[in-house]
Formats: sequence, structure tokens, C-alpha cells
Amino acid sequence: MSYWILFYQDALILDGGTSFLQGAEPETLPRGKHYHTLPWLDGKSCYAISLTDKEKDTLIENGKGKLELVALRASYDVLPLSHYLMAGKARELIHFDETVKYCSLCGSPMKWHTDISKQCTACGREVWPSIATAIIVRITRDDEVLLVRAKNFRGNYYGLVAGFLETGETLEECVRREVKEETNLEITHIRYFGNQSWPYPSGQMIGFTAEYAGGTLRLQDEELSTAAFFRYDHLPEIPHKLSMARMLIDDWLKKYE
Ligand SMILES: [Zn+2]
Repeated sequence: MSYWILFYQDALILDGGTSFLQGAEPETLPRGKHYHTLPWLDGKSCYAISLTDKEKDTLIENGKGKLELVALRASYDVLPLSHYLMAGKARELIHFDETVKYCSLCGSPMKWHTDISKQCTACGREVWPSIATAIIVRITRDDEVLLVRAKNFRGNYYGLVAGFLETGETLEECVRREVKEETNLEITHIRYFGNQSWPYPSGQMIGFTAEYAGGTLRLQDEELSTAAFFRYDHLPEIPHKLSMARMLIDDWLKKYE
């Protein structure tokens, strides 16, 4: 018995729209493609594969109306957490496979070497998926929290200040720099909160909390469209449960329950 984690672009193909396909290898899966071998899950071996448009259509046509496409983000609401996380890992490996096809030193084709690395067929250079590290920070001021709207947010919700770690920086320096750059504020009491894999397409989000220390809000034009401090009982629309931003906000709201 195996789990088959099937992707078409950023969507999973789920049985009944709610679970991975399981059992022997489905007969309608394409042959001769690379299957990503994942860690075991629930005592079952676990494989992932990315399907082309045509392969996806064939599979769904043969699925007797039971197979549905569900975006990876939306799958958080229907899959057990361990399954959502495994699907995220699979998506990151697929992204790695699709974006690292040639050796960056000699230009020769890369081939899979282990379950999580590729090797150059000519010079032997081995590469692993690169993970983009980003910070996200909850800044509070008394009974208010700083919420921002980034220009690239889809939808109407507000989030927290976030940004990518630069080379040579500590995480705390990154938090301080991003807050200063994006909002012009000074912060203090920067504390680690938690972290999560963020497979959109290959990130690691590190959450922090901090307190407002000074400065006047002034937005960086390129990235943010709005920012303001909101009182705990007058919050605008906030991000979905799956995100680190929401975990940070919910953690703070517990104080006022
Ligand atoms: Zn090479």
C-alpha cells in the first residue's frame, strides 16, 4: 500500500477532494517519469509525481468522477496536517526538479542522485534544493498590533511585516532591518516564536515577536500599500489559519480572550 501524491502545477489531485490516492500504483499514471520517493507516512510508502496537462486529464477521466484538483494552499483545510506537510515537501522537490536541470558550473545535464539531491552527469557536482529563509514579525504596542497590506497580497486581508534573510545577517538583524525599511519603526524585545516550511515555492518562514520602541509609520512605497496599528477588538481581515502570520496574531489574541 502506498500514498500517491499527484500534482498538476500547484494543485493536488485528491480522492474525493479530501485524501491522497492510495493502494497499488494507479494504472493510468505515466510510465518512465521520475517518481519522488518521500519518507513513509502512516506506515505507507509515499511517492509524488508532477503530471502534464494531458496526463492529468487521462487520470481524472479514468477516476470515475472521484478525483478532484485542490490547490496546495486549500488542501490545508481538508488534509490531516501531516499529509499537508508531506504534500508541501513533495511540491518543493518537484519545484527543484523543474528548476535545476543543468549544472551551474559546467552546463551538463543533472540527474537525480539521492531522494533529495541531484548530481551533474559530467563533473559530479551535487546540489540540494535551496530554501529561501524569510522572517515574519508581530509588532505590538500596548493593546494594538501592527498590520500591513503588501501590494502583492491577493485578497483584502492584512498581514505582518515579513522579508527575506540577506547573506551575512542574523535573523534578528533581518527582523530589525525589514521593519525599519518597510515601516520606518524601531522595535525592541525581538523574540523567536516558531517556524514553518512554506512551500510556495520553497521557503522557510521564521516567526518573531517584538514590541514597538519608537518612530513614525512611513511606508516603503514599493512593497506596502497600507500599515496601521489595530486594537485587538477592531482587527481587519487577517490571514488564513495555515500561515505563520495568523499563528502569531492568534497567539497574541489569546491574551484578550
Ligand atoms: Zn557539472
